[in-house]
Formats: sequence, structure tokens, C-alpha cells
Amino acid sequence: MNQTISFFLSVISLVAIVYLYIRLKHLAYLHKKSLTLYDDLKEVNKNLQKDINTIITSLPAPAMIINTNGIIISANEEAKKITENNQLEYHSYIVSFKQPEFIEAIQQIQKNKKGIVKEIGLKNRLYLVSFIPLINNEVIFIFFKDITDKKEIEKVKKELISNMSHELKTPLTVIQGYIDTLYDEVNSPVAKQHLDTVKKHTERLTNIVNDLLKLSELEEVKIEFQKFDIKDIIESVSKIFEKKVSQKGLTLKLDIENVYIEGDPIKIEELLINLLDNAIRYTEKGEINIKTKKEDNYLIISIRDTGIGIPEHCLPRIFERFYVVDKSRSRETGGTGLGLAIVKHIVMLHNGTIDVKSSLGTGTEFIISLPVKQSGS
Ligand code: ADP
Repeated sequence: MNQTISFFLSVISLVAIVYLYIRLKHLAYLHKKSLTLYDDLKEVNKNLQKDINTIITSLPAPAMIINTNGIIISANEEAKKITENNQLEYHSYIVSFKQPEFIEAIQQIQKNKKGIVKEIGLKNRLYLVSFIPLINNEVIFIFFKDITDKKEIEKVKKELISNMSHELKTPLTVIQGYIDTLYDEVNSPVAKQHLDTVKKHTERLTNIVNDLLKLSELEEVKIEFQKFDIKDIIESVSKIFEKKVSQKGLTLKLDIENVYIEGDPIKIEELLINLLDNAIRYTEKGEINIKTKKEDNYLIISIRDTGIGIPEHCLPRIFERFYVVDKSRSRETGGTGLGLAIVKHIVMLHNGTIDVKSSLGTGTEFIISLPVKQSGS
């Protein structure tokens, strides 16, 4: 009996030893394979790093790459020039980039894993700096675009426009006053006709000057955010246009709800006046719809008309200053080509977005998205 038991035990031990041997062999094989794979990966990584270095050094503007620990692993000569530091590589970025905006941008990327673009001043120059997370967020690619001269020219241009507009305001008011006086004094119908033409063009010039002043004011201004109900603003703006709408035989439909948002009610009113004025001016029949809804933490406002529409190729430029689709039509309807530039600026001041959809002969829809709460307000 004992012999049988010990025989079975021997067989079981033998089977166990054979099994263990096979497993160990397999594990050894796997280990060897993983070592080869690791070597391959190391090789790929090395090649990738080499390629990245080649790209960085061949870029004509300052560029560099930092890893998750904030160590600069690659930087080109241009980056060394702007920091006046020849030893960027293998040092923490904080040694050469002490600007709080720079440090904040890196921290933000490390947290949100999303690229950002920031204007950052560095040694008396202003740069547009793009921070782009790459290779599964393992590194951050940083690219600098010098915008100092562009900003300076923009500033001079804005100051010139603002000064000129201020200077033009007084003579224009005087001219308008005298046109009205003359109108009462002349009797000849031809002279009155000439005065009508002068009046029309003076009004157009006054509109341009006023819009330019509005734009330069918006560029200067810092918004004081306050809480208000969008329904109140839309209702009061609609009242302003009631007469114009019925004179043209149009219908104005409102589908609005009470949504409280943080913003500047006067500027939002101005934005709505511009969009509604356009919708009425460029619509000959049909209706204008204003709709609001709250989506997550955003207020969506849609202003849709059944007017002439905007050709597709014009849509990308529609928010540029002085851009008009049809010059003669704009002149005829008293447009300046500045209304939508003002609208876009107001939306940006509120950290929102504006979109436009349009098809010729069918109509146009402007869709604005505004955050209901402003961070830091
Ligand atoms: P303007 O004062 O000339 O209307 P805007 O900046 O307000 O200038 O608009 C730019 C151009 O966009 C206008 O010339 C017009 O052709 C077009 N546009 C704006 N809104 C509409 C609309 N609702 N329907 C059709 N065209 C529009």
C-alpha cells in the first residue's frame, strides 16, 4: 500500500517538475522577447527624438520641447537667442522662463492636457507662444512667434483711427447743422435736391465715424461684468425695431426664456441692435426669429432671417472691419461694414463665440454662445 502511495507521489512530483520546467522555459522565452521588444522600442524612441531634434533645429523661429518634469530636452538656436542662454537643454525651463504666464501655461497643460496659445513678453519683445502637448502628453512642444512689430503697428493704427474719428466728429456735426439751416432757407427744388444728397452722404460719414469711435472704445474698455436677464434686453431691443419691422411688412418672432448671465447689458444690447438691424435691412419678406436657450453653462442666442443671404465665399470675411458683401447695397441701406466687427468684438469681450450660417435667397442665421458665468468676475 505504502509502495503504491510513494509511486503515485513520485509520478505527481515528476509531472510537477516537467510542468515547472516548461513554464520556466516559456517565461525565459517571453523575457528574452520582451528584452528585444524593449531594445526595439528604445531604438524607435531614439530615432523619434532624433527626428524631433532635426525638426526643432530647422525651424526658423524659436522652438523647444520640454518633458513632463519641466526639463528642456530640445531647443533651437533661435530659442537660445531670445533667452540669451546657450545652455537651455537639460535644464528646467524655469531657469530661463520666469514669466508667470509661461509657468501658468505649462501647469495648465500638465493639468488639462490641451494645447494653449498665449501672448508673453520676453526681453522687451512680445511673442505669441503656442504650447502643444505631444506623444501622449509626454512632452510639450513650444513655439514662439514674434508679434512685437505687428502689435506696435496695430496700436499706432488704432490710435490714428481713434484720433481722426474724434477730430472728424465736430466738423461733421457743424456741417449737419448747417445743412438743416440751409434746407429751411433755400426755395429752389434743385437746391433742395442737392442738399438731400449732401445730407445723405454726411449722415453716412457720421455713421462711419461713430462706428469707428465705438470700435476703438471697445478695444480700450475692460468689461465690468454684472448679472442680468437676457429676456429683458431682447424684449427692449425688439421694441426699438417694432415700427421698422411692420413698415417692411415683416414678422418678428421671439422664442426666448429667462436666462441670467454675467456680462455688460449695454454692450449686449448694442450687439443685438446691430444684428437685428442687419436682419431687417437685408430682408424684404418673411420673418425674423430670435431664439434663446441654455446649454450647459452657455447661453445660445440665434437671430435668423429669411432675407437675401450671404454668398458662401464671403462668410469667412464677414466679421472684418469695412467688409461689405455688396458695396452699392450697403451704401444704399446706410451700412458702414463695421457693424459685425463691433458685434464680434463684444462677443470676444464676453469670452463667447459667434457663428454664421447663410444661404443665398433663403436667409441668414447668427448664433452666439456666451458663458453664463465669467471666471474671475
Ligand atoms: P453693414 O453696416 O454694411 O451692414 P456689417 O458689418 O453689419 O456692415 O455687415 C457686413 C456685411 O455682411 C454687410 O455688408 C452685408 O452684406 C452682410 N450681412 C450682414 N448681416 C446680414 C444679414 N442678416 N443678411 C444678409 N447679409 C448680411
